[in-house]
Amino acid sequence: MQVVRARIAAAAQAAGRDPGDIALLAVSKTFAAGEVRAAHAAGQREFGENYVQEAMAKIVELSALPLIWHFIGPIQSNKTRAIAEHFDWVHTVAREKIAQRLAEARPVEKDPLDVCLQVNLGGEQSKSGVAPEAVRALAEAVRALPRLRLRGLMAIPEPGGDISLQRRRFAALRLLLEQLNAAGFGLDTLSMGMSQDLEAAVMEGATIVRIGTAIFGERKQA
Ligand SMILES: *Cc1c(COP(=O)(O)O)cnc(C)c1O
Repeated sequence: MQVVRARIAAAAQAAGRDPGDIALLAVSKTFAAGEVRAAHAAGQREFGENYVQEAMAKIVELSALPLIWHFIGPIQSNKTRAIAEHFDWVHTVAREKIAQRLAEARPVEKDPLDVCLQVNLGGEQSKSGVAPEAVRALAEAVRALPRLRLRGLMAIPEPGGDISLQRRRFAALRLLLEQLNAAGFGLDTLSMGMSQDLEAAVMEGATIVRIGTAIFGERKQA
């Protein structure tokens, strides 16, 4: 955790950014509740999970801790209720239908669900995400829904490449966010950067980096 925080701080400094503007999301998928608890004891509050079933068990077990849970996996429509009821953020909204279901299921007594749209920048590992040309229309649809708060954009560019290639990929997402903001959306979140490419993401304006391996070690299962 300290190593990752130092990497973020160094990249922020190189980019002339305040490291306090970059949130560290600890991706705890495949790791047990005990490991999340230990990370919390070391000062970590925000955790990311990809699988609803697995996440729910941890969220319930750790409900006494003031943790913030982010859903960052592919969303199946039969899981939208569980996600809307148990998570604080969803990074992977890519279809209006899914956004509608999340809005309908978000309990009124909770704060609005913070949402990022997942963008497929091309050449992605997973084929999920809205095409760049369709981002604007989806953003308008999501903005109009109750109980959701549209915060920004997320992407998972293909891994690998040198830092300049990584930066070009992340710059494309930043540009899309800037275009939405020029159209008045007022978005504040760029969810981008993982263990291998967090420096490039921070240099291109990431406000949330999603880090698993560099915090918890190699995952035990896929
Ligand atoms: C697993 C995962 C991460 C973390 O990846 P690492 O390379 O282990 O840091 C980040 N974002 C998403 C969407 C993931 O599925």
